[in-house]
Amino acid sequence: MCAMARKYLVRTFGCQMNEHDSERIAGLLEADGMEAVTDAEQADVVVLNTCCVRENADNKLYGTLGHLKSIKDRNPDLEIVVAGCLSQKDRGEIAERASYVNVVMGTHNVHRAVDLLNESRARGGDPVVEILEETVAEDRDLFPSALPVVRNSGYAGWVTVQMGCDNNCAFCIVPAVRGPEISRPFVDIVREVQAASEQGVTEVTLLGQNVNSYGRDLTLHARSLTEDSDGERGSIDDLSELVGPLWAQPDADGSGRVRPLFADLLRALGEIPGIRRIRFTSPHPKDFRTETIAAMAQVPSVCEHLHLPLQSGSDTILAAMHRGYTAERYLERLAATRAAIPDLAVSTDIIVGFPGETDADADATLQVAAEARYDSAYTFIYSPRPGTEASTMTDKFVDHSKSVERMEKLRQVVERSSLLANQARIGMTEEILVIGPSKRDPDKLSGRTRQNRLVHFTASEPLRAGTYANAVITSATTTSLLGELTDVVAVPTHKTRIAVTAG
Ligand code: SF4
Repeated sequence: MCAMARKYLVRTFGCQMNEHDSERIAGLLEADGMEAVTDAEQADVVVLNTCCVRENADNKLYGTLGHLKSIKDRNPDLEIVVAGCLSQKDRGEIAERASYVNVVMGTHNVHRAVDLLNESRARGGDPVVEILEETVAEDRDLFPSALPVVRNSGYAGWVTVQMGCDNNCAFCIVPAVRGPEISRPFVDIVREVQAASEQGVTEVTLLGQNVNSYGRDLTLHARSLTEDSDGERGSIDDLSELVGPLWAQPDADGSGRVRPLFADLLRALGEIPGIRRIRFTSPHPKDFRTETIAAMAQVPSVCEHLHLPLQSGSDTILAAMHRGYTAERYLERLAATRAAIPDLAVSTDIIVGFPGETDADADATLQVAAEARYDSAYTFIYSPRPGTEASTMTDKFVDHSKSVERMEKLRQVVERSSLLANQARIGMTEEILVIGPSKRDPDKLSGRTRQNRLVHFTASEPLRAGTYANAVITSATTTSLLGELTDVVAVPTHKTRIAVTAG
């Protein structure tokens, strides 16, 4: 480590999208000559990448800022940056409540992190607040994935394919803080995955709020490139970058489409050598197309795992949430996917106690959850997020004790199906991507199967994180499998050495 290099720490709250933005902020700071540290006391710059989806996000932020203030009192040169969804939502409020913060930036200007720090320095440390309303379509090259990156893992990577969301789910703050959907140019995504593969990444997870509508907004943009106001055709090269060479000629595939579908992206990425696993999150049930199901079934590297958020099994509540599908339609899509991919694992998100939810609505959710036979579920008791439609439905809020009761019943239904699904793996040989030593038992290694099941297994030889290994499954719980190594399938080629031993 260079003695003179300035030090930074990025602390992330929230979802994978935020984690990935943090990787990009770290990449920009390192490109500016900085080095990472893990302790705020040693840092010259601390970035808090905030989330407003979780409960009490603002209390957590101001609690963390209070702690940083005490460090800054001892080290006035410390620079503090607040980025992410909460900055986007609360705008100037953060700088007002915590005037010692140097930079407040939103979700649409991750690429400006270093410039904004420089602006604050030029102003003698005064706070700089920059919140852009949205990423404009012309700025598709400013996708977080298009910026320098310091990946948390050398063998697995997140790849943003789309930003923002065009839906208006009543409980969700994302459209307000991440803006409308913008798809990343097709060729950029393919290039990033190719480059990641060359550096030893073997698993990619495609990120978007609604990945199945990938490309929808590219149609208009593609048309604007295809024809100018005089009816002249634009550059075929520009169009090809945006939508991929196959769709650059309108109607080239005979469908009249001028844009790729998410399924086309899966197929293109499936051709990239070295990428053994492709995952994606999250598809919206209303936009889940047969083309996507077919690509999942036909592209060998697309994993047999689908995360399909249900949110509620009651049609009344689904309508109140503005989800755009019924329970029947959801189950039909799921059945079609299972028919195409027999060994499919399915996970979901469910909100219990949404405003107005009756006992009958809660029972409907239990029924759908039982029918869906989930392998796992993220279940949440509804809590209002300021700025959302549902947060104003105060006269319909469900009594907390009732929600707790409903949650317990749901937990039992999900655990029943998870346990059965996990027990069915006993005796099978599973391919595992090694993550590292098991957190519970350091004599074992942990990893994930293609179906995203967590496996703790014994191995008689040391294995690096990123190794693909086969293990025979010997027992199962509701949340994980136990197994024994049989053989190593592929060794990792990424450069970062991560010390992992077992046995
Ligand atoms: S689809 Fe609904 S829940 Fe998902 S990000 Fe968009 S508004 Fe939020």
